[in-house]
Amino acid sequence: MEELKCIGCGITIQTEDPKIEGYAPPASLTNEDLVCRRCFRLRNYNELQPVSLTGDDFLDILNGIGSKEGMVVKIVDIFDFNGSWISGLHRFVGNKDILLIGNKSDLLPKSINPNKVVNWMKREANKLGLKPADVLLVSAFKGHGMEEALQKIDRLRNGKDVYVVGCTNTGKSTFINHIIKGATGANEVITTSHFPGTTLDIVEIPLDDGKAIYDTPGIINDHQIAHYLDEKDLKLITPKSELKPKVFQLNAEQTLYVGGLARFDFISGERSSFLVYVSNRLEIHRTKLANADALYEKHKGAMLSPPSGDSVEKMPELVRHEFSIKEKKVDIVISGLGWITVQEPSVVAVHAPRGVNVILRPSLI
Ligand code: GDP
Repeated sequence: MEELKCIGCGITIQTEDPKIEGYAPPASLTNEDLVCRRCFRLRNYNELQPVSLTGDDFLDILNGIGSKEGMVVKIVDIFDFNGSWISGLHRFVGNKDILLIGNKSDLLPKSINPNKVVNWMKREANKLGLKPADVLLVSAFKGHGMEEALQKIDRLRNGKDVYVVGCTNTGKSTFINHIIKGATGANEVITTSHFPGTTLDIVEIPLDDGKAIYDTPGIINDHQIAHYLDEKDLKLITPKSELKPKVFQLNAEQTLYVGGLARFDFISGERSSFLVYVSNRLEIHRTKLANADALYEKHKGAMLSPPSGDSVEKMPELVRHEFSIKEKKVDIVISGLGWITVQEPSVVAVHAPRGVNVILRPSLI
């Protein structure tokens, strides 16, 4: 029998075992737009069935790209740059050109100069050992920058195939869907969702010249905060629209809690204002540094949430990162959450879940 693939996630369809990946009821096989039951449920009921493919399986699939000809489009989430980084990409893709695309630009405050973001991405990529052929910002969701991205891809691919790679939740499927929609007018061909790990196998999108764009499975990166949160909390921390800073005038020895996910201590320095750029729905609580530990113990999972419910136990412990900031206007970036702009020289500490990257960058504004 010819192998049938789910048009949502690319997995091979089977009709034998509903408990195994790729199951579709036999009656659905005649559907023109065949999807596996997992994608069907996700689309129609917004309900996710767990994925049993491990990170190693995903990496094996990506490893296969090494021997093929073509170029690579690597998608990162600009709000989770480190959390959405695939390390060692150059090792398994060989010497192919890599176009680095930062997605979710629609969330950046309008006051931010996009060139500064692109330059920051270039610097971070270089630090992580990657020299991309080019770096672009897009909003796959809103379509911003997509025309330019497609033109760049067409130029770089030079008549060859295109492999789109990225960690889960970077918007890779949204990006691919946008391309498919442009080409065919079809909406939502590939399953997208809030949940990491939606695309299961390689999906082929044929191009006019006999070549193809390949959507690869999302890589699960343990440094992504998203993996430790349930659906409700993940929705809450994921910004939906342009970030608006929350401004706090702080004295030394004051602390801010960003829900129960991160804590910012202003240890020493002149009174000044601090700008917090996180999802507008995340609540920020201010307290005295001296009371901060006790407040956390008493209120984590409740007033200090997310995490809430079962996620409280799943969330790795908070780890302290201290920074002595000498310049004016520095962003402390908490991968997957957002950033805090420190405007004056000061000593500060950020506590974030173990594994979640916390770094400094010159302010984008
Ligand atoms: P994948 O796991 O990398 O394939 O990611 P998805 O395409 O499923 O997207 C993950 C989440 O990010 C979903 O909640 C999307 O709605 C959201 N998303 C994707 N692209 C964008 C974008 O350009 N802007 C914003 N604000 N959200 C996006």
